Amino acid sequence: MEKEQAVDRQDFDEVMVPCYAPMQIVPVKGQGSTVWDQDGRDYIDFAGGIAVSCLGHCHPVMVKALTAQAEQLWHVSNVMTNEPALRLARLLTEHSFADKVFFANSGAEANEAALKLARRYAADVYGPEKSEIIAFTQGFHGRTFFTVTVGGQAAYSDGFGPKPGDVTHLPYNDLETLAAHMSSRTCAVMMEPLQGEGGIIAPDPAFVQGVRDLCDQHNALLVFDEVQTGNGRTGEFYAYQGLGVTPDILSTAKSLGGGFPIGAMLTTTALAEHLKVGTHGSTYGGNPLACAVAEAVVRTVTEPDFLAGVKAREQWFRDALQAINAQYPIFSEIRGKGLLLGAALNAEWKGRARDVLQAAGAEGVMVLVAGADVVRFTPSLAITKAEFDEGMARLSRAIGTLYTQQMDKTA
Ligand SMILES: *Cc1c(COP(=O)(O)O)cnc(C)c1O
Repeated sequence: MEKEQAVDRQDFDEVMVPCYAPMQIVPVKGQGSTVWDQDGRDYIDFAGGIAVSCLGHCHPVMVKALTAQAEQLWHVSNVMTNEPALRLARLLTEHSFADKVFFANSGAEANEAALKLARRYAADVYGPEKSEIIAFTQGFHGRTFFTVTVGGQAAYSDGFGPKPGDVTHLPYNDLETLAAHMSSRTCAVMMEPLQGEGGIIAPDPAFVQGVRDLCDQHNALLVFDEVQTGNGRTGEFYAYQGLGVTPDILSTAKSLGGGFPIGAMLTTTALAEHLKVGTHGSTYGGNPLACAVAEAVVRTVTEPDFLAGVKAREQWFRDALQAINAQYPIFSEIRGKGLLLGAALNAEWKGRARDVLQAAGAEGVMVLVAGADVVRFTPSLAITKAEFDEGMARLSRAIGTLYTQQMDKTA
């Protein structure tokens, strides 16, 4: 075999579309919650590839499932079905409200399917006037043109010409405004059961129940985007299970594949009927490799005690972040659920989440941001205590350095 070509971060600027601004390090290996870069430096991973690597890197159950399937069957397209897809669909329906599953390759595609199903159902049952999609400001639903338009940040959806129509954005957690706006024209309400990209914003329980009631009252479908919250992330298998409100359609991706690209839309038999043969599809959707890995991930996450472990780890994070904050007060609150946590910066530190991320990287710990004011943590749901302690020691040093610099500046 030919020797692999040497590449580094510089190549990104030369040959990649500049829609990302990746960090300077280039990771080459991961194990558990530790990642190594090209220079052999190690990093503790509190980011989990943005809520994806739910079992950490190269978990043995995923490696085993992937390599076994790799020697069996890679792809058949949806002209045929396949065993891993059928097994995964069985598993997902056993562990959720859903009776039916549609497989896609990403969160955006799962949401695209959800929106198309909602529109098709409303058109079939109530007629073409019932097309309004209501979603919430600061919501995030992906980057296809339909999903980015439904997402509540104009900065992401503007500048690409005419948008898909009849999409309304209303404030999250504001039941009165929603009640005043909804009508017989409302086709669906799409929401995250905990806003992730928008800043780790939890819904009031009364809001979630109220949205469900309003949807029932107006014959509108409730769509939960659980792309970030799903597959154990919040300490429930799906977040709706901890809210006491069941959606009509649910989208899932990110942690579903634990690092292998897959997404899925879950729904009921009555709704699924409206996606008849030929109405929707995806070449790679239900790919055997992806489904085999996801099956291993879902089996692990739904084992007894696994979710209790997520809740225990949430407490580790909350306690450690509070302790850092007691020493270097930069946070106003620690919020979120399970291992989808946000540390919101206080008034003096507003707008500096990226500085914290950079300082953390320099000390060898990876964190995320959610907007300019929130440091976000979406680590492996199986992170060990030793990895956690090391990561928090590094984060504490990083924040200590920033804090001291700031004190020196203002002194
Ligand atoms: C990440 C995310 C998406 C988009 O998922 P992709 O796999 O990037 O398409 C959609 N919705 C939510 C809530 C997300 O967090």
